[in-house]
Amino acid sequence: MIKKVPNSAQNLQPKLTDQFGRAIDYIRLSITDRCDFRCVYCMAEEMTFLPRDEVLSLEECARLVKIFVGLGVNKVRITGGEPLVRKNALWLFEEIGKLKNLNELVLTTNGSQLEKQAQDLKNAGVKRINISVDSLDAARFKKITRTGELDKVLRGIQAAKLVGFENIKLNTVLMRGMNDDEALSLVNFAIAQSIDISFIEEMPLGDVNHIRESTFCSNEDTLKMLKSEYPLIASTETTGGPARYWRVANTDTKIGFISPHSHNFCESCNRVRITCKGELYLCLGQEDKIDLMPLLRKHPDDDQSIIDAILASMAIKPKGHDFDLRRAAPAVIRFMSHTGG
Ligand code: SAM
Ligand code: SF4
Repeated sequence: MIKKVPNSAQNLQPKLTDQFGRAIDYIRLSITDRCDFRCVYCMAEEMTFLPRDEVLSLEECARLVKIFVGLGVNKVRITGGEPLVRKNALWLFEEIGKLKNLNELVLTTNGSQLEKQAQDLKNAGVKRINISVDSLDAARFKKITRTGELDKVLRGIQAAKLVGFENIKLNTVLMRGMNDDEALSLVNFAIAQSIDISFIEEMPLGDVNHIRESTFCSNEDTLKMLKSEYPLIASTETTGGPARYWRVANTDTKIGFISPHSHNFCESCNRVRITCKGELYLCLGQEDKIDLMPLLRKHPDDDQSIIDAILASMAIKPKGHDFDLRRAAPAVIRFMSHTGG
Protein backbone atom coordinates (compact mmCIF):
# COMPACT_ATOMS: atom_id res chain seq x y z
CA MET A 1 0.00 0.00 0.00
CA ILE A 2 1.41 3.41 -0.93
CA LYS A 3 1.21 6.04 1.78
CA LYS A 4 1.44 9.85 1.63
CA VAL A 5 4.86 11.45 1.80
CA PRO A 6 5.46 13.62 4.91
CA ASN A 7 5.36 17.35 4.31
CA SER A 8 8.37 18.47 6.33
CA ALA A 9 10.68 19.65 3.53
CA GLN A 10 8.47 22.58 2.58
CA ASN A 11 10.14 25.23 4.76
CA LEU A 12 12.83 27.42 3.27
CA GLN A 13 16.20 25.69 3.24
CA PRO A 14 19.66 26.84 2.19
CA LYS A 15 20.36 26.18 -1.50
CA LEU A 16 22.90 23.63 -2.72
CA THR A 17 26.26 25.09 -3.73
CA ASP A 18 29.38 22.94 -3.93
CA GLN A 19 32.97 23.66 -2.87
CA PHE A 20 33.72 25.17 -6.31
CA GLY A 21 30.74 27.54 -6.19
CA ARG A 22 28.61 25.51 -8.63
CA ALA A 23 24.89 25.69 -7.88
CA ILE A 24 23.26 22.26 -7.90
CA ASP A 25 19.67 22.48 -9.12
CA TYR A 26 19.27 19.22 -11.06
CA ILE A 27 19.00 15.65 -9.78
CA ARG A 28 18.89 12.41 -11.73
CA LEU A 29 17.23 9.64 -9.81
CA SER A 30 17.51 6.00 -10.81
CA ILE A 31 14.39 4.20 -9.54
CA THR A 32 15.44 0.67 -10.47
CA ASP A 33 18.52 -1.27 -11.58
CA ARG A 34 16.29 -3.65 -13.55
CA CYS A 35 15.63 -3.46 -17.24
CA ASP A 36 13.89 -5.41 -19.97
CA PHE A 37 16.89 -4.78 -22.29
CA ARG A 38 20.57 -5.73 -21.90
CA CYS A 39 22.33 -3.13 -24.06
CA VAL A 40 25.90 -4.22 -24.74
CA TYR A 41 27.49 -0.99 -23.46
CA CYS A 42 25.37 -0.87 -20.31
CA MET A 43 24.80 -4.35 -18.93
CA ALA A 44 26.30 -7.80 -19.00
CA GLU A 45 24.16 -10.54 -20.54
CA GLU A 46 23.66 -12.19 -17.16
CA MET A 47 22.88 -9.62 -14.49
CA THR A 48 22.16 -10.10 -10.81
CA PHE A 49 19.75 -7.42 -9.72
CA LEU A 50 19.41 -6.01 -6.22
CA PRO A 51 16.99 -7.59 -3.77
CA ARG A 52 13.85 -5.47 -3.31
CA ASP A 53 14.68 -4.26 0.23
CA GLU A 54 18.02 -2.86 -0.97
CA VAL A 55 16.24 -0.57 -3.41
CA LEU A 56 14.57 2.66 -2.32
CA SER A 57 10.82 2.27 -2.04
CA LEU A 58 8.77 4.60 -4.21
CA GLU A 59 7.76 6.49 -1.04
CA GLU A 60 11.45 6.93 -0.17
CA CYS A 61 12.12 8.17 -3.71
CA ALA A 62 9.28 10.70 -3.42
CA ARG A 63 10.49 11.85 0.00
CA LEU A 64 14.04 12.37 -1.28
CA VAL A 65 12.90 14.33 -4.33
CA LYS A 66 10.78 16.52 -2.10
CA ILE A 67 13.77 17.21 0.18
CA PHE A 68 15.96 18.12 -2.82
CA VAL A 69 13.28 20.41 -4.22
CA GLY A 70 13.16 22.08 -0.78
CA LEU A 71 16.93 22.66 -1.24
CA GLY A 72 16.43 24.49 -4.52
CA VAL A 73 16.48 21.66 -7.05
CA ASN A 74 14.14 22.61 -9.89
CA LYS A 75 14.73 19.82 -12.39
CA VAL A 76 14.35 16.07 -11.79
CA ARG A 77 15.15 13.35 -14.29
CA ILE A 78 13.83 9.87 -13.57
CA THR A 79 15.99 7.14 -15.02
CA GLY A 80 17.23 3.61 -14.30
CA GLY A 81 17.61 0.76 -15.33
CA GLU A 82 14.36 1.08 -17.16
CA PRO A 83 12.18 3.29 -14.94
CA LEU A 84 8.93 2.29 -16.65
CA VAL A 85 9.32 -1.40 -15.78
CA ARG A 86 9.12 -0.57 -12.06
CA LYS A 87 5.70 -1.51 -10.67
CA ASN A 88 3.62 1.58 -9.72
CA ALA A 89 6.25 3.97 -11.11
CA LEU A 90 3.40 6.19 -12.26
CA TRP A 91 2.51 6.96 -8.62
CA LEU A 92 5.99 8.46 -8.17
CA PHE A 93 5.67 10.59 -11.31
CA GLU A 94 2.32 11.87 -10.01
CA GLU A 95 3.78 12.73 -6.58
CA ILE A 96 6.74 14.56 -8.09
CA GLY A 97 4.49 16.28 -10.63
CA LYS A 98 2.61 17.90 -7.74
CA LEU A 99 5.68 19.64 -6.25
CA LYS A 100 5.21 23.40 -6.57
CA ASN A 101 8.80 24.57 -6.90
CA LEU A 102 9.78 22.04 -9.53
CA ASN A 103 10.09 23.42 -13.07
CA GLU A 104 10.82 20.24 -14.93
CA LEU A 105 10.06 16.59 -14.47
CA VAL A 106 11.76 14.64 -17.24
CA LEU A 107 12.32 10.99 -18.07
CA THR A 108 14.91 8.81 -19.78
CA THR A 109 13.48 5.55 -21.09
CA ASN A 110 14.20 2.82 -23.60
CA GLY A 111 10.68 3.39 -24.95
CA SER A 112 9.48 -0.20 -24.58
CA GLN A 113 6.58 0.73 -22.27
CA LEU A 114 5.66 4.09 -23.78
CA GLU A 115 2.89 2.84 -25.99
CA LYS A 116 0.96 1.98 -22.81
CA GLN A 117 2.21 4.71 -20.48
CA ALA A 118 2.83 7.90 -22.49
CA GLN A 119 -0.58 9.48 -21.77
CA ASP A 120 -0.44 8.79 -18.01
CA LEU A 121 3.10 10.17 -17.81
CA LYS A 122 2.03 13.35 -19.61
CA ASN A 123 -0.95 13.70 -17.26
CA ALA A 124 1.37 13.24 -14.26
CA GLY A 125 3.42 16.25 -15.37
CA VAL A 126 6.34 14.77 -17.32
CA LYS A 127 7.43 17.54 -19.67
CA ARG A 128 10.22 16.11 -21.74
CA ILE A 129 11.27 12.62 -22.58
CA ASN A 130 14.50 11.04 -23.85
CA ILE A 131 14.16 7.75 -25.68
CA SER A 132 17.21 5.59 -26.37
CA VAL A 133 17.44 4.23 -29.91
CA ASP A 134 20.74 2.95 -31.29
CA SER A 135 19.58 1.48 -34.58
CA LEU A 136 16.65 1.59 -37.00
CA ASP A 137 17.39 -1.90 -38.24
CA ALA A 138 15.40 -4.48 -36.24
CA ALA A 139 18.08 -7.20 -36.31
CA ARG A 140 20.80 -4.80 -35.31
CA PHE A 141 18.60 -3.26 -32.63
CA LYS A 142 18.16 -6.73 -31.20
CA LYS A 143 21.90 -7.36 -31.33
CA ILE A 144 22.71 -4.16 -29.44
CA THR A 145 19.91 -4.41 -26.86
CA ARG A 146 20.06 -8.24 -26.79
CA THR A 147 16.32 -8.45 -25.97
CA GLY A 148 14.67 -5.30 -27.40
CA GLU A 149 12.02 -5.13 -30.14
CA LEU A 150 12.51 -2.13 -32.41
CA ASP A 151 8.84 -2.09 -33.48
CA LYS A 152 7.65 -1.72 -29.93
CA VAL A 153 10.01 1.22 -29.36
CA LEU A 154 8.93 2.89 -32.61
CA ARG A 155 5.30 2.57 -31.51
CA GLY A 156 6.35 4.08 -28.17
CA ILE A 157 7.86 7.08 -29.99
CA GLN A 158 4.63 7.58 -31.94
CA ALA A 159 2.59 7.38 -28.70
CA ALA A 160 4.87 9.99 -27.10
CA LYS A 161 4.41 12.27 -30.12
CA LEU A 162 0.64 11.89 -30.01
CA VAL A 163 0.29 12.92 -26.37
CA GLY A 164 2.38 16.03 -27.03
CA PHE A 165 5.37 16.19 -24.68
CA GLU A 166 7.14 19.57 -24.86
CA ASN A 167 10.17 17.83 -26.25
CA ILE A 168 11.16 14.34 -27.38
CA LYS A 169 14.80 13.49 -27.89
CA LEU A 170 16.41 10.30 -29.10
CA ASN A 171 19.61 9.18 -27.36
CA THR A 172 22.04 7.19 -29.46
CA VAL A 173 25.32 5.59 -28.44
CA LEU A 174 27.34 5.11 -31.64
CA MET A 175 29.80 2.22 -31.67
CA ARG A 176 32.37 1.63 -34.37
CA GLY A 177 31.55 -1.39 -36.48
CA MET A 178 28.16 -1.82 -34.83
CA ASN A 179 25.98 1.17 -35.68
CA ASP A 180 28.31 4.07 -36.56
CA ASP A 181 27.08 3.90 -40.17
CA GLU A 182 23.56 4.82 -38.99
CA ALA A 183 24.25 8.34 -37.72
CA LEU A 184 22.80 9.94 -40.85
CA SER A 185 19.72 7.71 -41.07
CA LEU A 186 18.98 8.33 -37.39
CA VAL A 187 19.24 12.09 -37.97
CA ASN A 188 16.97 11.77 -41.03
CA PHE A 189 14.48 9.87 -38.88
CA ALA A 190 14.58 12.57 -36.18
CA ILE A 191 14.02 15.28 -38.80
CA ALA A 192 11.09 13.37 -40.34
CA GLN A 193 9.55 13.00 -36.86
CA SER A 194 10.31 16.64 -35.85
CA ILE A 195 12.15 15.49 -32.75
CA ASP A 196 15.71 15.98 -31.46
CA ILE A 197 18.58 13.53 -31.27
CA SER A 198 21.74 13.33 -29.14
CA PHE A 199 24.78 11.22 -29.81
CA ILE A 200 26.41 9.96 -26.61
CA GLU A 201 30.03 8.88 -26.56
CA GLU A 202 30.37 5.57 -24.81
CA MET A 203 31.58 5.92 -21.23
CA PRO A 204 33.73 3.35 -19.43
CA LEU A 205 31.20 2.38 -16.77
CA GLY A 206 30.71 -1.15 -15.47
CA ASP A 207 32.50 -4.28 -16.58
CA VAL A 208 30.26 -5.28 -19.47
CA ASN A 209 32.58 -7.63 -21.37
CA HIS A 210 32.73 -5.32 -24.32
CA ILE A 211 35.98 -3.84 -25.61
CA ARG A 212 35.33 -0.14 -25.66
CA GLU A 213 38.57 1.11 -27.09
CA SER A 214 37.83 -0.67 -30.38
CA THR A 215 34.18 0.43 -30.60
CA PHE A 216 34.72 3.99 -29.43
CA CYS A 217 33.31 6.47 -31.89
CA SER A 218 34.12 10.13 -31.43
CA ASN A 219 31.42 12.76 -31.68
CA GLU A 220 33.92 14.98 -33.44
CA ASP A 221 33.93 12.57 -36.42
CA THR A 222 30.14 12.23 -36.37
CA LEU A 223 29.72 16.02 -36.35
CA LYS A 224 32.15 16.40 -39.25
CA MET A 225 30.20 13.85 -41.30
CA LEU A 226 26.82 15.43 -40.49
CA LYS A 227 28.11 18.89 -41.36
CA SER A 228 28.90 17.66 -44.85
CA GLU A 229 25.24 16.58 -45.23
CA TYR A 230 23.30 19.33 -43.46
CA PRO A 231 23.67 23.03 -42.72
CA LEU A 232 24.17 22.94 -38.94
CA ILE A 233 23.89 26.08 -36.85
CA ALA A 234 25.68 26.05 -33.50
CA SER A 235 23.17 26.60 -30.73
CA THR A 236 23.94 28.51 -27.56
CA GLU A 237 21.50 26.30 -25.66
CA THR A 238 23.01 24.56 -22.67
CA THR A 239 21.63 22.34 -19.94
CA GLY A 240 24.71 22.83 -17.75
CA GLY A 241 25.65 19.31 -18.77
CA PRO A 242 27.95 17.66 -21.27
CA ALA A 243 25.76 18.28 -24.34
CA ARG A 244 26.54 20.74 -27.13
CA TYR A 245 23.69 21.42 -29.57
CA TRP A 246 23.41 22.20 -33.27
CA ARG A 247 20.23 23.19 -35.05
CA VAL A 248 19.54 21.61 -38.46
CA ALA A 249 18.59 24.60 -40.64
CA ASN A 250 14.98 24.64 -41.90
CA THR A 251 13.90 21.77 -39.64
CA ASP A 252 12.52 21.40 -36.09
CA THR A 253 15.46 19.20 -35.11
CA LYS A 254 18.41 19.87 -32.85
CA ILE A 255 21.37 17.51 -32.72
CA GLY A 256 23.18 17.14 -29.41
CA PHE A 257 26.62 15.72 -28.79
CA ILE A 258 27.32 14.37 -25.34
CA SER A 259 31.08 14.08 -25.23
CA PRO A 260 32.65 13.26 -21.91
CA HIS A 261 35.95 12.55 -23.68
CA SER A 262 36.16 15.50 -26.03
CA HIS A 263 34.92 18.37 -23.89
CA ASN A 264 35.55 19.39 -20.38
CA PHE A 265 32.05 20.21 -19.27
CA CYS A 266 32.66 19.72 -15.59
CA GLU A 267 33.16 23.39 -14.74
CA SER A 268 29.48 24.08 -15.37
CA CYS A 269 28.17 20.89 -13.71
CA ASN A 270 24.83 21.56 -12.00
CA ARG A 271 23.78 18.02 -11.13
CA VAL A 272 24.08 15.07 -8.78
CA ARG A 273 22.83 11.52 -9.14
CA ILE A 274 20.96 9.25 -6.79
CA THR A 275 21.10 5.52 -7.37
CA CYS A 276 18.20 3.17 -6.77
CA LYS A 277 20.00 2.21 -3.51
CA GLY A 278 19.84 5.78 -2.29
CA GLU A 279 23.54 6.53 -2.87
CA LEU A 280 24.09 10.17 -3.68
CA TYR A 281 26.88 10.26 -6.27
CA LEU A 282 28.40 13.68 -6.63
CA CYS A 283 29.92 12.89 -10.06
CA LEU A 284 29.09 10.23 -12.67
CA GLY A 285 32.76 9.41 -13.20
CA GLN A 286 34.03 9.42 -9.60
CA GLU A 287 33.38 7.35 -6.51
CA ASP A 288 32.54 10.20 -4.12
CA LYS A 289 29.17 9.46 -2.57
CA ILE A 290 27.08 9.41 0.56
CA ASP A 291 24.48 6.80 1.50
CA LEU A 292 21.06 8.28 2.08
CA MET A 293 19.09 5.06 2.52
CA PRO A 294 20.21 4.40 6.15
CA LEU A 295 19.25 7.97 7.08
CA LEU A 296 15.87 7.72 5.35
CA ARG A 297 15.11 4.49 7.21
CA LYS A 298 16.46 5.66 10.58
CA HIS A 299 14.48 8.92 10.49
CA PRO A 300 11.16 8.15 8.83
CA ASP A 301 9.46 11.31 10.15
CA ASP A 302 12.29 13.81 10.41
CA ASP A 303 14.06 15.15 7.33
CA GLN A 304 16.67 17.30 9.09
CA SER A 305 19.50 14.74 9.26
CA ILE A 306 18.97 13.96 5.58
CA ILE A 307 19.04 17.66 4.71
CA ASP A 308 22.25 18.07 6.76
CA ALA A 309 23.90 15.12 4.99
CA ILE A 310 23.00 16.48 1.55
CA LEU A 311 24.29 19.94 2.45
CA ALA A 312 27.54 18.42 3.80
CA SER A 313 28.00 16.37 0.61
CA MET A 314 28.55 19.58 -1.34
CA ALA A 315 32.03 19.76 0.19
CA ILE A 316 33.06 16.49 -1.52
CA LYS A 317 31.66 17.03 -5.02
CA PRO A 318 34.74 16.48 -7.20
CA LYS A 319 35.98 19.07 -9.64
CA GLY A 320 35.56 16.71 -12.59
CA HIS A 321 35.54 13.16 -13.91
CA ASP A 322 38.45 11.03 -14.98
CA PHE A 323 37.48 8.78 -17.89
CA ASP A 324 40.24 7.17 -19.91
CA LEU A 325 39.41 4.53 -22.51
CA ARG A 326 42.96 3.17 -22.55
CA ARG A 327 42.73 1.85 -19.03
CA ALA A 328 42.61 -1.92 -18.66
CA ALA A 329 39.82 -1.70 -16.09
CA PRO A 330 36.79 0.58 -16.28
CA ALA A 331 37.29 3.92 -14.50
CA VAL A 332 34.19 3.24 -12.52
CA ILE A 333 33.07 -0.31 -11.83
CA ARG A 334 29.41 0.42 -11.22
CA PHE A 335 27.01 -0.10 -14.11
CA MET A 336 25.26 2.80 -15.79
CA SER A 337 21.97 1.04 -15.02
CA HIS A 338 22.81 1.30 -11.31
CA THR A 339 23.78 4.98 -11.31
CA GLY A 340 21.27 6.07 -13.91
CA GLY A 341 22.24 7.60 -17.26
N1 SAM B 1 16.80 2.48 -19.72
C1 SAM B 1 16.74 3.87 -20.04
C2 SAM B 1 17.36 4.14 -21.39
O1 SAM B 1 18.01 3.27 -21.94
O2 SAM B 1 17.19 5.25 -21.88
C3 SAM B 1 17.33 4.76 -18.99
C4 SAM B 1 18.63 4.33 -18.35
S1 SAM B 1 20.02 4.26 -19.45
C5 SAM B 1 21.30 3.79 -18.32
C6 SAM B 1 20.27 5.98 -19.79
C7 SAM B 1 21.18 6.31 -20.95
O3 SAM B 1 22.48 5.88 -20.65
C8 SAM B 1 20.78 5.65 -22.25
O4 SAM B 1 20.59 6.63 -23.22
C9 SAM B 1 21.96 4.77 -22.58
O5 SAM B 1 22.19 4.73 -23.96
C10 SAM B 1 23.08 5.45 -21.84
N2 SAM B 1 24.20 4.57 -21.50
C11 SAM B 1 24.17 3.40 -20.83
N3 SAM B 1 25.42 2.91 -20.68
C12 SAM B 1 26.26 3.81 -21.25
C13 SAM B 1 27.67 3.89 -21.42
N4 SAM B 1 28.48 2.95 -20.97
N5 SAM B 1 28.17 4.96 -22.06
C14 SAM B 1 27.35 5.94 -22.53
N6 SAM B 1 26.02 5.92 -22.40
C15 SAM B 1 25.47 4.87 -21.78
FE1 SF4 C 1 18.43 -0.98 -20.09
FE2 SF4 C 1 18.78 1.57 -20.67
FE3 SF4 C 1 20.85 0.06 -19.89
FE4 SF4 C 1 19.78 -0.37 -22.26
S1 SF4 C 1 20.80 1.52 -21.61
S2 SF4 C 1 20.31 -1.96 -20.73
S3 SF4 C 1 17.68 0.07 -21.91
S4 SF4 C 1 19.12 0.61 -18.67
